[in-house]
Amino acid sequence: MPSKYQVFVKDLRAACNMRGVEPEHIGHAGRSRSYDLFKVTLNPRRKRAVCFVCGVHGNETSGPASAIEFLRTYRSEPSHPRIIILPNANPSGYDRDTYRNDRNLNPNRHFSDRPLTGEVAALYRAIAHEPLEAFASFHEDDVKKGSYLYGFARPAADPELFRTLIRAASRHGPICTDTRIYRRRAEKGVIGRPVADGSFEWRMHDDGVPYAICMEVPDVLSMRNCIRINVGVMEAMVRWWSM
Ligand SMILES: [Zn+2]
Repeated sequence: MPSKYQVFVKDLRAACNMRGVEPEHIGHAGRSRSYDLFKVTLNPRRKRAVCFVCGVHGNETSGPASAIEFLRTYRSEPSHPRIIILPNANPSGYDRDTYRNDRNLNPNRHFSDRPLTGEVAALYRAIAHEPLEAFASFHEDDVKKGSYLYGFARPAADPELFRTLIRAASRHGPICTDTRIYRRRAEKGVIGRPVADGSFEWRMHDDGVPYAICMEVPDVLSMRNCIRINVGVMEAMVRWWSM
């Protein structure tokens, strides 16, 4: 029987094949280093780039499924940016359906480590040189009943993007309108102030990426529903750079 991650890689290759793109091998993950990590690039010649990262927490499987759905359904237009996808960032966690990886680490607390190690190093290296306008990581929340996002903007960036993404999410499910989400101030589904927590989004913000986003969908919704929300948000991000 193929493992869960092997099935994912097969689906990823099939979705890429349909588009005529090849997933790029960017390194290994796992204590046994037996998991291949991949990166997929669409519209490679475009100057500006956006990046989607899925599955940093292994049991939040709607992210990786959304990456595949986006690859299956996305229609490229000349005005669109380069789209870089890290479709499954924590394969050892994905394979065992655990939040952490197989070294019992939460990868999303180690992106500011020096030096970076394991899959965290491979993922960071794969995008650090890209001319990123925006970075978004796709997660699930097992407490809240609505979607929300952490949106970190550099001074020159327009925070209207975050409201645009929340509007896109609201077409497919409820938004969390709490004024505090995990003790952080929130406004209509947007948590605005970055915290140096070692997350991938913090590191990208700290590196100077104009927009760094962590999207959270409520896992009480069906998988289909979560995928619709995530793909809707991905499409809205791509459209933002076509205007
Ligand atoms: Zn998560």
